[in-house]
Amino acid sequence: MNPKTKTDSIERGDEIPRDAICTCKSCHHDFFRDCVKSSCTCCAKDEHSLILDGIEGFLSIRPESYFGEANKIRNEDLIKAMKVKGSLTDSKVEEAIRKVPRHLFVPSNVIKFAYEDGPLPSQNEQTISQPSVVARMTEWLDVKKGNKVLEIGCGSGWQSAILSLLVEGGNVFSIEISSVLVEFAKKNHAKAGIKNVEIIEGDGSLGLPEKSPFDRIIITAACPKIPKPLVEQLSMDGLLVAPIGEFMQSMVLLKKTKDCIKELKRELGYFFVPLKGKFGF
Ligand code: SAH
Repeated sequence: MNPKTKTDSIERGDEIPRDAICTCKSCHHDFFRDCVKSSCTCCAKDEHSLILDGIEGFLSIRPESYFGEANKIRNEDLIKAMKVKGSLTDSKVEEAIRKVPRHLFVPSNVIKFAYEDGPLPSQNEQTISQPSVVARMTEWLDVKKGNKVLEIGCGSGWQSAILSLLVEGGNVFSIEISSVLVEFAKKNHAKAGIKNVEIIEGDGSLGLPEKSPFDRIIITAACPKIPKPLVEQLSMDGLLVAPIGEFMQSMVLLKKTKDCIKELKRELGYFFVPLKGKFGF
């Protein structure tokens, strides 16, 4: 039985929605279920003495991949908002975003903002990119089934999870410089059931020569200029998208041709955390 209304009673073993508000019976501190884990962080009472949306009872934890009707509706609203803004126009990208619950990729303390179109803070003073920016970059990248994609800056893993659905039988490699975020992204992928992304800890500005060439490369941190190794590791006719600039960045889309690197698109007005490492700031 899933408690749905305030009059439903909760029994041990019931499934509690991830976004349910729980209140500690001892200190009356409110939490999202996701923050509760095994105990109230305020007074350390265990989960079985919590109150859910005003009803006292026993709690159990849903599978981490639980999407939930409330979050599905919020995700649809977010998709609509991005379409109105014009940052989401491709139906395949829309479908991928629909299938990757963003609330599984954000820290518990900001989970209620997971379906708003804004960047969110992550561990290590890093950010989880704004959904409409992720949508736009993904559209520019024009990922095809079977592509081999390299992402620089795995962060929460949300962008790479979306890419992993678009490549279908292909592969996504994502490099992250912060070990804390590598663990965070791996955990998030496991929760969301994402299997075809390999997360590598290291300096992504050097690329991943042993797996090159890549059909697509996406850099999700602001770079002073496109790191040379990444251009070298892009396949012929491959596409690369990246924010370039120090304070405010321009998003650029590049294509590697036989003779040159051609700039296909450029759009000013992006704010990313800086790329670190040898070819970063
Ligand atoms: N794509 C992410 C958001 C990335 S924020 C998402 O979907 O959530 C930028 C990320 O780039 C941060 O996590 C930061 O730690 C990482 N980063 C910065 N410099 C890097 C480098 N040289 N190599 C790999 N990752 C880097």
